[in-house]
Amino acid sequence: MLGLMMEAPLTITALMRHALSNHADVEIVSVTADAPRHRCTYGDIFRRAGQLAGALADLGMRPGDRVATLAWNDYRHLELYYGVSCSGGVLHTINPRLFEEQIVYIANHAEDRWLFVDPAFLPRIESLRDELPRLERIIVLSDDAHVPATRLSDVVSYEAFIAGTDRDFRWPDLDERTASALCYTSGTTGHPKGVLYEHRSTVLHAFASALPDALHVSMRDALLPVVPMFHANAWGAPYAAVLAGARLVMPGPKLGDAPTLYELIENERVNVALGVPTVWLGLLDWCERERRTMTSLERVVVGGSACPPAVIERFRAVHGASVRHAWGMTEMSPLGTVHVLRPSLEQLPEAERARVEAKQGRAIFGVEMKIVGDDGEALAHDGRTFGVLKVRGPWICREYYKAERASDAHDADGWFATGDVATIDADGYMQITDRSKDVIKSGGEWISSIDLENTAVGHPAVAEAAVVAVPDPKWQERPLLVVVPKAGAEISREEMLAWFEDKVAKWWIPDDVVFVTELPHTATGKISKVVLREQLATLPVGEVERADRR
Ligand code: AMP
Repeated sequence: MLGLMMEAPLTITALMRHALSNHADVEIVSVTADAPRHRCTYGDIFRRAGQLAGALADLGMRPGDRVATLAWNDYRHLELYYGVSCSGGVLHTINPRLFEEQIVYIANHAEDRWLFVDPAFLPRIESLRDELPRLERIIVLSDDAHVPATRLSDVVSYEAFIAGTDRDFRWPDLDERTASALCYTSGTTGHPKGVLYEHRSTVLHAFASALPDALHVSMRDALLPVVPMFHANAWGAPYAAVLAGARLVMPGPKLGDAPTLYELIENERVNVALGVPTVWLGLLDWCERERRTMTSLERVVVGGSACPPAVIERFRAVHGASVRHAWGMTEMSPLGTVHVLRPSLEQLPEAERARVEAKQGRAIFGVEMKIVGDDGEALAHDGRTFGVLKVRGPWICREYYKAERASDAHDADGWFATGDVATIDADGYMQITDRSKDVIKSGGEWISSIDLENTAVGHPAVAEAAVVAVPDPKWQERPLLVVVPKAGAEISREEMLAWFEDKVAKWWIPDDVVFVTELPHTATGKISKVVLREQLATLPVGEVERADRR
C-alpha cells in the first residue's frame, strides 16, 4: 500500500521559494573584483537570479544546456547557482586553477554554451577562446566599468547582461531528478570525470548537512565558505545556508588571503567557516605572527585533506573554536562523514580525545559506508583493520557524465569505491589512512602517510609536511618525510626524526627528511603527491640525504 502524502518535488527551486518566503531579508556579504564589500539579501539575489534566467532564455537556453562558470565565491556566483539550475539548465563550475588543457577538455566535454568569468580570468580565456568552438558568449562577472580590455568580441558585463530582462521570470516545474550542476574531478591518470548532480540529491544533501551533528547550519549562523564554489559546490554550503536562512559571507578572490579572511571573520562576526587545512594553516600562522584571535568563530569545518590534530588544538586553545573534521568527495556532493564527539566519549582524557578527533568522523544520514579487503569481503570495524572504503547513498554519483566506458569504481551492488583506504572503529568513526595510490607498504605492512604528516605538523617548527614512499631493497618501500619549516624556524634532520620517537611505532619512523621551501598543491588545495614524487625523482642521487643540511 502506498502512503497518502502530497507530491512535492525536492528541487532547488523549492529551496529558493522557501528562502524568499522565510528569509528574504537575510544578508549576503561579498568581496568582488568591483566592490571590496558588497551587501545584499537573499531577496535581492533570487530576484536577480530571475533576471539572469530571463536573459539566458532570451538567448535560447534549452532544458539541460550547460552554463559554465570560472568564478570565486560571491553573490553573483550564487545567482548563477540558482538562476541556471532553477530554470532547467546545468551549472558547470570550472576550477580556474586547472591547467589550460584541462579547462579546454572539460568545457568541450561538457559542451558549455555560455561562460561566466571573473574579470581576473578573462586574459586566460582570451588565449583559449579559439579552442572552445561551442562557446557562444562570455559574460564577465562585473559591471561595465570593470570589464578588462579584451580583443574578444563576444564579451559582455554581467550587469549589462541581466539588466532590463523580465523580473518575474516564471520558474518551470522541474522533475526532482532533473540535472542541476556539473563538476569535474581530476584523477591522477586519464581525463577529468564529470559528476552530474540533480535537484533531489542536492536538496537531500542540504537537509542532511544542515543537521546539528553534521555542519550544524541555522538562521543564527554567519557562514564563511572559504572552500571555493567550484570545489564540489563549496561542500553544499550555498544550498544548506539558503535552506536554513544563515547569513553568508563570501571571500571572493581573497579566499587564500589570511589578513582579509581574518578581517571578514572579525568584522562580519562569522561563527562558522569551511575550508581545506592549507588555508587554515596559513590563517593560524598569520594570527600567531600578528598576535590576533578570532573572537566570533565557533565552528570550523575542515576537509578536503586530513586535518592535523595540531590545527584542531590551535583553533581550540587560541581561538576558542571547535573543528568539525569532515570527509567527502566531489562524487559524494560531497559530504560523507563529519566528526562530532559522541556524548559517551566526551569525558575521555585529553590525549585520547585528540586521537579520536583526528579521525574523519561518522557517516551522516544518507551515507552507508564499509571497508573491504582485497577479496571484496567486508572487514571488521575495530579501528585497526585497514580496507578500501566503499560508500553508497542518494547523493553519491552512480556513473560519470558521458563516460566512454562503465566505471570500474562501481560494483554490482551499487557500492562506489572511493579510492581511500580507511579504518572504522566500534563507535563508527572512520579514519582515512591514505589514498590507495599513496599507501606505503613496508615489509608487507601498511604505514599511514597521513598519520606521519599529522605528527610532523605537530612540531612547532613545521609549517607543512608530506610523506611519500621511496623504494627500498629490503622492505620494498620506506617513508620519506618532506618538510616546509615555518618562516624563521630552524630544525635539523635529527631533531625532526627524534620528534616521532614516542609518537608512532618505531618501524613507521621515516628513514629520511627533505627540507623544502614549499610543497606542490593540486587545484583543490591538496598536497600533490604525484608532482612531489616527480620532483623528488629529479633530485640527483645522494641529494635526498644532503638536502636536509641546506
Ligand atoms: P575531491 O573530490 O577533490 O574533494 O577529493 C576527494 C578526496 O579528498 C577523498 O577521496 C580523500 O582522498 C580526500 N579527502 C577529503 N576529505 C578528507 C579528509 N578529511 N581527510 C583525508 N582525506 C580527505
